[in-house]
Amino acid sequence: MAADQNAKALIAGFRLLFGQKVALLFQWIDDIGRIAMDSGRPVFFNAQAADARCSGLLSPRPEELVPFVQNWSGPRPLRLCGGGTTSRAAVAHNWTLDLQTHFKRLDWQPADQSVWIGAGCRMGEVLDALLPCGRTVAAGLSGLPGLGYVLTGGMGPLSRQVGLAVDQVLEIHGVWGNGSPFALSRTADSDSFEWRGLCGAAPFLGVVSELRMTTQPLLPMWVEQQVVSPDQLPELMLQAEAADSGASLQWHWESSDAVQLLRIADFPWTGAQKITGLHQLPPLRGSAPMPSRSHTEVVGLLAPAVADSWGRLMPELCRVLHHRPHPGCSLACQQLGAATQQVAVEATSFVHRNAEWKPWITAAWTPGDAPGQRLSLAWLEEVWQILEPICPGVHLAQFHDHLPFHDRELEAAFGSWLPELRKLKQRLDPSGTLPTL
Ligand SMILES: Cc1cc2nc3c(=O)[nH]c(=O)nc-3n(C[C@H](O)[C@H](O)[C@H](O)COP(=O)(O)OP(=O)(O)OC[C@H]3O[C@@H](n4cnc5c(N)ncnc54)[C@H](O)[C@@H]3O)c2cc1C
Repeated sequence: MAADQNAKALIAGFRLLFGQKVALLFQWIDDIGRIAMDSGRPVFFNAQAADARCSGLLSPRPEELVPFVQNWSGPRPLRLCGGGTTSRAAVAHNWTLDLQTHFKRLDWQPADQSVWIGAGCRMGEVLDALLPCGRTVAAGLSGLPGLGYVLTGGMGPLSRQVGLAVDQVLEIHGVWGNGSPFALSRTADSDSFEWRGLCGAAPFLGVVSELRMTTQPLLPMWVEQQVVSPDQLPELMLQAEAADSGASLQWHWESSDAVQLLRIADFPWTGAQKITGLHQLPPLRGSAPMPSRSHTEVVGLLAPAVADSWGRLMPELCRVLHHRPHPGCSLACQQLGAATQQVAVEATSFVHRNAEWKPWITAAWTPGDAPGQRLSLAWLEEVWQILEPICPGVHLAQFHDHLPFHDRELEAAFGSWLPELRKLKQRLDPSGTLPTL
């Protein structure tokens, strides 16, 4: 009853602010709080977010964003949906600020070859829009993620040459959690805590409406997909660590005895296939059949160049990969390093500048299977425990403020920068409009 009254008050408040737009907001949602299957508009790519009984979606226009955040009096935290690929883009009994509908700006700036990207664009859309200009950006392994990819660091096949996506950002516009608008630039603000906070920890501090980033020339790439046995991994990783910055290795391990390998480089070799850019990257999972629709949580780790230590962990890793509680549970890894290591630790909130590898663990379960969920999350923690001695860092590409390891993730992600980041949060988002840090 109380929740109902709250929702009515909220809708009344929103109607007051934005007229009849509230009808538009709800046309995507069915009566049990899911996005309508026939809406033709899958806001939440993440199945868990799509199934969450969230209070609703709110889609202000860019000019309405500042008053929207300033006047927010509903339940906190407010959830944000950029690409909608993470499990926390929509949460039961929380409202989601949908940025996909009205934040689609994509503007090529020929003068300095940069691009303005609105908070509602997916990275694949950015790659496609830049094709006619013969340019590209440092996107990741998939075009699906939205601006969250850039704001949480963002590593991909070009990272060893040009750095992380966040290292390419020139300007950021948006509104802090306290409702004040901001417009910061690398030229004027790169020494400020605010700039550092936005570059890697923005989801805790403010809503980014758009950002401008540098582009790179669109050049051909070569890729090779292979299936190898898990015991070959340490040697292959050792070779990759010694390779040129134009080459990177990524792998995906989901069956107990086979690992899918994806090598990407800016030069040809025997067995490699030419592609014309990141927009043509093949899937990391190769031709492995897609697992059935499942709910997932992903923890991303960061490790320095210690390929030889992986050898010692292989028996344990083989054991846990052999006993996965769900076919969608997996361990995967992508290479960074080289240019990503050239940036000062203090420049951004991505503090693990010595990282060479990002292994990520996916826990999956059938929607609604609570025991299966517990088993899978326990499995994820077991894999994490095995890897922890060589993976001291966390890449906070998704956060888990509903899971017991949220604090552990924050500490491992931000290290000694966390206390200062928390002071910044206290100043810029004192009411906790955005998720807890
Ligand atoms: C298929 C796939 C492939 C991926 N490949 C890579 C990869 O190669 N490299 C890599 O680094 N990561 C990769 N990721 C991880 C992905 O980049 C992150 O999880 C990212 O946070 C997703 O962003 P989103 O906008 O799609 O998600 P959302 O769920 O919409 O948002 C994710 C987080 O970012 C915050 N956020 C989103 N937009 C804004 C905004 N405008 N202002 C403030 N906060 C915002 C949200 O609050 C949320 O906490 C991949 C993910 C998927 C699903």
